[in-house]
Amino acid sequence: MSLPSVHEVEVCPKCGSQNGFYIRSRVSGLVQINYSFDGSGSDNQDMYTPLKHNDQKFAYCQQCESKIGRWDEKAKSIVSTRVRF
Ligand SMILES: [Zn+2]
Repeated sequence: MSLPSVHEVEVCPKCGSQNGFYIRSRVSGLVQINYSFDGSGSDNQDMYTPLKHNDQKFAYCQQCESKIGRWDEKAKSIVSTRVRF
C-alpha cells in the first residue's frame, strides 16, 4: 500500500494570490499591564509572554480568506485537504 502523495500549496487555489496565508490561534490567559504612578504606560514588552495559545490547524488565504488546507507546523507546509484528480 502506498501513501497518498503530499500536495504542497504555494498559491491560493481559489484566487491565485501569493500574498500568504494565516492560521487562527485561540489565546487565553491574563496579562500584566504596567503603569507608572502618573498613569502613563511603562515597559510592557513582555505583556503577551504568559498567554497560552492553541493554534488551529487550518490555513486561510490572506487575500480571499478561503480555507486552503491544513498547516503542518513541523513540515512548515500546507497540506491540501481538497485534492482533486
Ligand atoms: Zn485566495
